[in-house]
Amino acid sequence: MLNYICVTCGNQYGGTEEPPLHCLICEDERQYVNPTGQTWTTLDGLRREHHNVLKSLEPGLTEIVTEPKFAIGQRALLVQGPKGNVLWDCVSLIDDTTVEAIEALGGISALAMSHPHMFGSMVEWSHAFGKAPIHLHSDYRQWIQRPDPVIEFWEGEKHDLNEGVTLHRCGGHFKGSTVLLWPEGAAGRGVLLSTDTLYVAPDRRHVSFMYSYPNYIPLAGSTVDSIVDKVMPLEFDRIYGHFRHLEIEADAKSAIQRSAARYKEAIGFRR
Ligand SMILES: [Zn+2]
Ligand SMILES: [Zn+2]
Repeated sequence: MLNYICVTCGNQYGGTEEPPLHCLICEDERQYVNPTGQTWTTLDGLRREHHNVLKSLEPGLTEIVTEPKFAIGQRALLVQGPKGNVLWDCVSLIDDTTVEAIEALGGISALAMSHPHMFGSMVEWSHAFGKAPIHLHSDYRQWIQRPDPVIEFWEGEKHDLNEGVTLHRCGGHFKGSTVLLWPEGAAGRGVLLSTDTLYVAPDRRHVSFMYSYPNYIPLAGSTVDSIVDKVMPLEFDRIYGHFRHLEIEADAKSAIQRSAARYKEAIGFRR
């Protein structure tokens, strides 16, 4: 039995003798199947050709990126808190070098995922760090490809972790789309980890809000308003997106308001 990993979205599946016929995440309109067709690899296959690179982004925050690029190419973010470290989102590759580097930073006591495009090999990562719990919004039950007792579902709009960060369900890109608030980040001004819920644009002065990024399907204006209404009361000044260098370093709330106004103007929406 092998845990196959989808080459396009990077999700690791439950153990099977043969590769699965379909990837549910890639067949959804928020992803896509490669022109060459559905293809799979395994962790051993990945380890032969890829490695992870860790980089400190600010005190208490480290990004983990797989090189050469694999699947979506996202970064996972390790938030170090006084009561433990949280891995926010995930990548597909985990190897001994990565585990050692993260152990040196204090390990991982919990994992939390924003949405299924970022699940990677999350169960494998949890097992490598003492079966740390994976916090997932209950809206994601149907998207779990490798079920495991380490997955803990939370309900409602907000979930506090012991490590000192809070998960907020904002919806939009997925019904359960989650962001992470790290109050101690940015020297105490607060950091929002936003992934695809509020996608940091390459100009690093705006965010976007899409139902499907690869297939360019926008969200309704009322949904954009609802996402903005959920994050504006939170205390933060900086946003990190889920790709390298996609960060709004300061005054992120102004950037969100500016971006939402521009977006709604573009789709002809009036509140
Ligand atoms: Zn896939
Ligand atoms: Zn996504």
